[in-house]
Amino acid sequence: MDLRSRLADIDARILDAASSAGRDPSEISRIVVTKFHPVELVEDLVGLGVTDVGENRQQELSAKRETYSGAPVRWHFIGQAQTNKAKAVRRDADAVHSLDRARLADALHAARGEDDDADILDVLIQVNLTDDPGRGGVEPAGIEELAEHVAASCPSLRLRGVMAVAPLDEEPAAAFARLADHAALIRTVVSDADWISAGMTGDFAEAIAAGATHLRIGSAITGPRPVHG
Ligand SMILES: *Cc1c(COP(=O)(O)O)cnc(C)c1O
Repeated sequence: MDLRSRLADIDARILDAASSAGRDPSEISRIVVTKFHPVELVEDLVGLGVTDVGENRQQELSAKRETYSGAPVRWHFIGQAQTNKAKAVRRDADAVHSLDRARLADALHAARGEDDDADILDVLIQVNLTDDPGRGGVEPAGIEELAEHVAASCPSLRLRGVMAVAPLDEEPAAAFARLADHAALIRTVVSDADWISAGMTGDFAEAIAAGATHLRIGSAITGPRPVHG
């Protein structure tokens, strides 16, 4: 299958999953994760009507955005961000899905455009759904405090919701059910923070059933990722 067919196939499966879950497909965004692929892939995807792409490393995000600046694409940053990269992440991402600590929120806020009240960055709190504290994301017990910090202290960040990756050793449906509870908790802090970024190649149907609004799908659309160093 070529890129066009793979994209069409995934979109058909998204529609099926939405229909099985009784959900309106128009409330589900499909982000194509292009990490490790050359920028030409973004160009091909845009030619096929893709509007949202995801990258997980700041250098790659920045390089691709620069090469492809002016394109009608929203860039989603989905990787772990170092605080010292916050300025570049803020400059080159339209949404940051991987906010996991107050220091990163502060750094992203500090990197806002000077004298530009219209410079608002969409952020999602990444939640760690595993028992391993080394995995990305804030522990569930820290979600509320982080949401309150963003809402109270970082006016140039707009908290949009939650993001998570399902653990490898658990049924995705069970993990995404917990994520839906975490999303509800965030809405007690910021009532319109209703994005749920969940669902990858292997589990997007389960994510849709659990209320995901933003799917991050890579290899099922792009093909296998090139080996990287
Ligand atoms: C790579 C990546 C994806 C996409 O993974 P696929 O299994 O290729 O669909 C989604 N989310 C995050 C955070 C990723 O790093």
